[in-house]
Amino acid sequence: MMLSTPPDVPATIPHWIDGRAHPGAAARTGDVTNPATGRVTGQVVFADADDIAAAVASAKAASETWAATSVSARTQVVFRFRELLNERKEELAAIITAEHGKVHSDAVGEVSRGQEVVEFACGIPHLLKGSNSPQVSTGVDVHSIRQPLGVVGVISPFNFPAMVPMWFFPIAIAAGNAVVLKPSEKDPSASIWMARLWQEAGLPDGVFTVLQGDKVAVDGLLDHPDVASISFVGSTPIAEYVYERASRAGKRVQALGGAKNHMVVLPDADLDLAADAAVSAGYGSAGERCMAISVVVAVGGVGDALVERIAERTATLRIGDGTRGTDMGPLVTSAHRDKVASYVDAGEAAGATVVVDGRKVDADGEQDGFWLGPTLFDHVEPSMSVYTDEIFGPVLCVVRAETYAEALDLVNANRYGNGTAIFTSNGGAARAFEQDVQVGMIGVNVPIPVPMAYYSFGGWKSSLFGDTHAHGVEGVHFFTRGKVVTTRWPDPGTVGGLELAFPKNH
Ligand code: NAD
Repeated sequence: MMLSTPPDVPATIPHWIDGRAHPGAAARTGDVTNPATGRVTGQVVFADADDIAAAVASAKAASETWAATSVSARTQVVFRFRELLNERKEELAAIITAEHGKVHSDAVGEVSRGQEVVEFACGIPHLLKGSNSPQVSTGVDVHSIRQPLGVVGVISPFNFPAMVPMWFFPIAIAAGNAVVLKPSEKDPSASIWMARLWQEAGLPDGVFTVLQGDKVAVDGLLDHPDVASISFVGSTPIAEYVYERASRAGKRVQALGGAKNHMVVLPDADLDLAADAAVSAGYGSAGERCMAISVVVAVGGVGDALVERIAERTATLRIGDGTRGTDMGPLVTSAHRDKVASYVDAGEAAGATVVVDGRKVDADGEQDGFWLGPTLFDHVEPSMSVYTDEIFGPVLCVVRAETYAEALDLVNANRYGNGTAIFTSNGGAARAFEQDVQVGMIGVNVPIPVPMAYYSFGGWKSSLFGDTHAHGVEGVHFFTRGKVVTTRWPDPGTVGGLELAFPKNH
């Protein structure tokens, strides 16, 4: 299927402040490229201190009115946003493909998974309900309420320019907050498209703000006294930095970091199913997913048969421009492509077996695209950099383990704990794995176990800093603060009396 480049991607990609495109000072800008052609398609403005101040001031003013707007009225806006998004998701997907490079079907999938969180947020009247306990003491009732935080900051990575922001903003907005989104400077147009959609859905100006930029914009949000919380998604070093700095500034923080996801294949697994899963989850979106499988642990002698099956399937993949119906697109930038290729060089030099070499790719696309084909390494050792580091590219490593216990130890020794999967036909083994593995999201014969919107998304260890995962009930709690109210309404005609002892129930 051929899709045209979206006509409305502007040459200058602005902020969105107070319900309109805002050029900002624009003293600094960044190139935005189409990874399939290598050509610069836009300049994104980078916020300076005045832009940050204007964005947060507008959001703060809007948050006060929005918080006082009825839950029904807020929900109707979120519902309209969902309807518009559903009707026009192809437009957003085309923008994502043009700046990120992922193939069109994958971009549509990303929007659909984000839309699920919008649908979850449409249930906010139920999610915000407090508890009520009548007559906890004679004539005394207790109830709880949850209130919005005010202005909340969302800082997102390049790899899901629509879905990751949508892990947060639908719930934050439905709960009565104003959101300032700082998208990745590599693919910033999706956020402006979503801002326009909110406006069309009837969201008051200032409730959804986009602040474009780099570290200056991020630090501005982390330090700003009127920003109550930070939801960050990105690489582990930046997540750790964001968590520490924003926590020190007294904010509520959830900072999701990097990953190195293992797929354990036991001897009783269906090896064809496992090979399909390894290829789909290893090379989908060119491996630029935090839930990508990057390590396959072949247990108890299944290594040769599994590697053969993975290699056969990899050979069938069509690499190229994501608008041409291919299976896998380019990497996001030439610098990132070169970094991933350098890991392939390092793996080969360290003695891993190169079964499929992505450096020799024949892509269906322009020659200046940021191409790198799928790479498959066998006999990888845990000391090699291809194993220890998050590569974030189409590189799949096969490590061999003698026993299930050895495989489990390997997964648990890894510094990351985002996702993992086990492939087996033994329910007992799967259950033991589910209990014992030190990872936040687990698949049983499912390679990318991204939770549905009504569960929460998040990893363990260096994959998440803070204690709240994204969306689901944890998301509602993150974006609201609780109060408990104790009430006495004496019966008419009864009188009070002095009581200086600590109140006890009777
Ligand atoms: P990144 O850490 O480079 O950037 C993330 C955000 O931080 C961007 O908005 C960027 O502008 C900003 N940033 C970059 N450098 C900064 C600095 N020095 N100071 C302050 N802010 C800075 O990540 P990326 O390359 O855009 O995205 C890929 C990474 O995100 C991978 O590590 C991937 O695993 C991770 N990721 C994690 C999840 C998850 O759920 N755990 C989801 C998606 C992506």
